[in-house]
Amino acid sequence: MSDRMKLPPERDCGFYQRRKHDKWSAVPSPEPMLEGLVADSHAHVHMLPDPAWELVRCAANGVGFICEICDPSEDSLSIPEDVHRWRAEAHDTLNELADEIDSCQLPQMRISAGVHPHNAKLYDAAVEERLLEWLSAPETLIVGEIGLDYHYDLSPRDVQREVFLRQIQLAKELDMPVALHLRGGDDPEVDDAHREAFSILEKVGFPSRGAIVHCCALPPDELLPWIEADCYVAYGGALTFKKSEEAREGARLVPENRLLLETDSPYMAPEPMRGAACTPAHVIFTAARLAEIRGIAPGQDRERFLAQLFENTLRITRP
Ligand SMILES: [Zn+2]
Repeated sequence: MSDRMKLPPERDCGFYQRRKHDKWSAVPSPEPMLEGLVADSHAHVHMLPDPAWELVRCAANGVGFICEICDPSEDSLSIPEDVHRWRAEAHDTLNELADEIDSCQLPQMRISAGVHPHNAKLYDAAVEERLLEWLSAPETLIVGEIGLDYHYDLSPRDVQREVFLRQIQLAKELDMPVALHLRGGDDPEVDDAHREAFSILEKVGFPSRGAIVHCCALPPDELLPWIEADCYVAYGGALTFKKSEEAREGARLVPENRLLLETDSPYMAPEPMRGAACTPAHVIFTAARLAEIRGIAPGQDRERFLAQLFENTLRITRP
């Protein structure tokens, strides 16, 4: 794990901000969160040093759902066995800590599997075989993250398009939704990954189980076609960054029954934890910010709002 993605030395369920010279200071939770009502719809839990401990941290902070995102071309995982093992370990730890931690509800977990556009060049028959095996697990309910990344261009663009299309077709055959990773480059004329992906999806037809625009930072005008196509829109830590004003404007427009929360853990820690590894429990900070952006005050209204977002996550990950 790179230096930017360090975790605090404390092994407890709190939150810490990384200061200069590797000093850490405690951060209060954004508000008393509602037990088990916040869902992280996109996290690479296996990339964190201790996945089981992160589930315990979720239990202690009211995070009741995680969708684990994995890529058969790069992740050495046993799916779904590893997810079961994390939960079993977390269950034992919660029992040991029963006196210290109030909540004892471990988050529910689902799995999303797909070949990331960065890895499109690795897609071959063996990778597809492994992908299909992971997708056949009863816990795996989304194909993703799949898409186009013209910012890093780690795979040739024609290969990215081909592999994206192939996996959309698999999702349609399996009747699953897709989670989309779309990132454009600097020149809007030739690097518009969102516009290209949209026209690919339009041409072959959006999967009937839905599509998630993961890590959305789109301004209102670019977001509208996705809203009109009835897509789910997921917001993560980037929503809390100072420079993300356009993304916040977009976040006000998404219909409430299509909004999702996510972390993209271990990447993209929300404020005020930026510069440290992001963990699924951090989703409560993004949840509070999203509610605030939409003018939903803490209390009953926020409870209802978060319950709706939770229900959205369950709906799209329903078998
Ligand atoms: Zn991701």
